[in-house]
Amino acid sequence: MVESPGKLARRVLDGSEIGRCPIGAKEVGRYFRGKWGAKDEFKGLGQFACMSRSRTKCLAIPISEKEVILARKLIKNDSAPGPDGVVKTDLIKWDPSGKLLAWIFNGFMVNQKIPDILKSNRTTLIPKDKEAEALKDVTNWRPITIGPMVLRLFSAIINKRLTKACPINVRQKGFTNAPGCSENLLLVEGVRERSIKTRAPLAMVFIDLAKAFDSISHVHLRQTLVNRRVDPGIVEMINDSYCGCSTRVQTDNGYSGRIAIEIGVKQGDPLSPLLFNLAIDPLLAKLQEEGDGFDMGDEKLTVMAYADDLVLLSNSWEGMNKNMGVLEAFCNLTGLRVNTKKCHGFLVDRNKRNGIQLNQCPPWSLGGTDINMVKEGEMVKYLGIKISPLRGPYKPDVEAQILTMGLQITAANLKPTQRVEIFCSYAIPRSFYTAVNNSSNQTCLRNADSLIRRFIKDWLHLKPGTCNGILYSKQQDGGLAIPCLSKMVARCKAKRVFKLYHSNDLLVAKVARAVINPGKFGKLWRAGGGSSQSLLVVQEDLTNVESVSYRGPECWRAEEFRKWAIKNPQGFGICLYEKDKISNAWLRRVERAKWRESQFICAIQMRCNMLPTLELGNRFGPRGNIPLCRACGVTSETGSHILGSCRETKLNRMERHNRLCSLLAQEGAKKKWEVFCERRVTKRDCSWAVPDLIFVKKDTLLVVDITVRSDGSLDWLNKGRIEKETKYKKILGPLQLEFPQVLDLSAHGFVMGTRGKWLESNFLVLEKLGMSKTNRLRFAKLCSKITILKSVDVYQAFNKRGRKGNEEGRKHTPSDMNPQGRKGNEEGRKHTPSDMNPQGRKGNEEGRKHTPSDMNPQGRKGNEEGRKHTPSDMNPQGRKGNEEGRKHTPSDMNPQGRKGNEEGRKHTPSDMNPQGRKGNEEGRKHTPSDMNPQGRKGNEEGRKHTPSDMNPQGRKGNEEGRKHTPSDMNHHTWRPTVFKTFF
Ligand SMILES: [Zn+2]
Repeated sequence: MVESPGKLARRVLDGSEIGRCPIGAKEVGRYFRGKWGAKDEFKGLGQFACMSRSRTKCLAIPISEKEVILARKLIKNDSAPGPDGVVKTDLIKWDPSGKLLAWIFNGFMVNQKIPDILKSNRTTLIPKDKEAEALKDVTNWRPITIGPMVLRLFSAIINKRLTKACPINVRQKGFTNAPGCSENLLLVEGVRERSIKTRAPLAMVFIDLAKAFDSISHVHLRQTLVNRRVDPGIVEMINDSYCGCSTRVQTDNGYSGRIAIEIGVKQGDPLSPLLFNLAIDPLLAKLQEEGDGFDMGDEKLTVMAYADDLVLLSNSWEGMNKNMGVLEAFCNLTGLRVNTKKCHGFLVDRNKRNGIQLNQCPPWSLGGTDINMVKEGEMVKYLGIKISPLRGPYKPDVEAQILTMGLQITAANLKPTQRVEIFCSYAIPRSFYTAVNNSSNQTCLRNADSLIRRFIKDWLHLKPGTCNGILYSKQQDGGLAIPCLSKMVARCKAKRVFKLYHSNDLLVAKVARAVINPGKFGKLWRAGGGSSQSLLVVQEDLTNVESVSYRGPECWRAEEFRKWAIKNPQGFGICLYEKDKISNAWLRRVERAKWRESQFICAIQMRCNMLPTLELGNRFGPRGNIPLCRACGVTSETGSHILGSCRETKLNRMERHNRLCSLLAQEGAKKKWEVFCERRVTKRDCSWAVPDLIFVKKDTLLVVDITVRSDGSLDWLNKGRIEKETKYKKILGPLQLEFPQVLDLSAHGFVMGTRGKWLESNFLVLEKLGMSKTNRLRFAKLCSKITILKSVDVYQAFNKRGRKGNEEGRKHTPSDMNPQGRKGNEEGRKHTPSDMNPQGRKGNEEGRKHTPSDMNPQGRKGNEEGRKHTPSDMNPQGRKGNEEGRKHTPSDMNPQGRKGNEEGRKHTPSDMNPQGRKGNEEGRKHTPSDMNPQGRKGNEEGRKHTPSDMNPQGRKGNEEGRKHTPSDMNHHTWRPTVFKTFF
């Protein structure tokens, strides 16, 4: 089974795999039976009973279909089913309009009862700890209890209504719409700053309520609702949903027996968070009213809550002692327990003449047990952030964190794209959270970003000089959409600061204005890619701040794309790919499921014009004239030469063309067109033309000729289309004579860019063929993918040739290596097969098993699409003949035709001489060392980057677990040098 990326990420980054609970089902069952069957110790709300009334009007009205559909939309599509196995799609299928469900739910409301069948749940366990040892303890697992989907949907609707009806204390930030973590963390910072400024002592205690969700009494929940004057029908119904409610716990070795839930809320039900918040709301209200809080100027801050995570604050030891008393009284009444061992507190007194004093006081106690006092140098963890009593929130070293995770991923045995995925989707987000919640500075984040880019470029074998645009641009613009911490953190912080400035919680808004420097928002805005023109204005007036809405700064990824597009030569033709979901589809993992890693990497290099060629070596090395092509020697070796015009890659280019022809021919055949491939049409002047495809159906005839052009600009591509159309319009007359029944004749150029650009005008052909809109889109994506993949093949075949040269060079004895020996061959010796064998048959010779892509174009196609071959596409070489006007012998036509060559036919210069050297030597002025493979060997030993070094394929061997051939080994020796430059 394939490991899920999330699991893989945990294994790589945390060093352990966390699956299901390893503890036996019986033991787990016993534990939770004890817990949920515990005696209800609720004694009444006593002094906490006085509560604000609910706004009851919106509660007891019938549930509408609209409400059902709205709530259903909010359920995640992959949300786990309850014990009945019903999932979201089942509900949609059964009741698309929501009418039936609305009827059922209104039945619940009228009867104030939930059917027993919906009261069975299942419970899964989520680890609270990362350590394997700790996970053997059942208390380190959090139970998530999931009810049937139908009930969860109902709960979600009731939750929405009840949230409106019963506002909770403003100090409670858990499960609310407010950005609760950041608001509370801001308050911590604000309190600290104020304590420094006013020299007021600061006492803080972080409370750990033991298993609060699992030990809250049902009577307590009910009493809270009654005291709030919630509609009695609703109270009865909610109460009923907990009567006779049971669950079974899922463990590694099966389910536990049935356990009745007699206490605690179901963690996993949409209504539970609100019920819990309501239940502890009286405590928060009492603390704010009667406690002795920390003086914030206009008001006192006594408590901060994030769900069951409470912090008590005060100006003095005595004040805190009083607050603790209120908490203790609430716990005694309601049966909630504080885990004193996990409570931490401190008292900082800055008022003393002899400096700052920490904890010059006895520890506070709860129920007779002392809590822990945080000593100097120690930290207390609050909402995932470490806080030091004297120094405040800990400033994390994001750079070091990224470095550690990057190295962990590098060390793991993963494929390049897996590395990138784990890094971007799992590792970087961890740093993002720490960075966003801490005062991490921009310089540190920018350093972290440069580290991220270096890791990614290294894994993807992209040269360090590769522009950032391809990394940061959106996928729909042809980029990899990699996170940029400095930008994303700044944007996130800008939004938070703005929201804190305009918080509904007036205290938060005031603290934000006091603590956060007014210029900071603008700074963050600009760091996040926003312009000064678009900068939002902070509203001075604190009344009615909730009406102020936030709109983020300009899209930074679009800006990165613009920078890329104007970069020469890496942005060559890139503007063609902006907002093009079709031509960039291959960047999505699902779309390239069967690609090899080396193919994906090569495609990326191609897109940013960074294919390892001699031109590239020249670009980053000492500048000079671009060396001539190693294969043909006719012109400079650039990416576009190899992909578009090199004589040596012609076969592969034709294969690319023919593949597109056969795809289009098939689509025509599917639509019942009569398809003629490469039919020779004689023109009036007795010359003839051979269009790729002619489609005939009833009275319509389409001539289509396919061409793959360099995608430097849209004009070039359009020119290709017009050329083809003009050319083939001339044969429409003769065709009319051949097909007299036809009334509507047209000629079309079907143009693809070498790097997968799909031209909008191609849709016209598909439309004329009668393809549906979805089919047209699917087909366009397919064409784009095939084109770039085949272009990759063109390049890789070229590169393989170069590599082979090197290897042979090395194997030969010195006498072999001299240029004269070779010349001898050309002049009359018979070729031995190994000499002649240009196309990297080497693969076979060396006993490798797969080379489907280079040897056997058809086999590959089969894989890609799993369809049967029509004779027309089996025959890639056939076309070549036509184009060159030669006559073919049957052996030419078949893909193995080249083998025929080896077996003894006479060679024409062009196909015989793999390295094309003969031509060079006879015609041009190059010195032999330029041209022959041995020359290159010299290079390899002298220079650092030789073409074969740059070749990503070498790695592939390792990735796929092949045995190493000498060429692979070669790349091994390359690796360490990269890492040296890397660190
Ligand atoms: Zn060439």
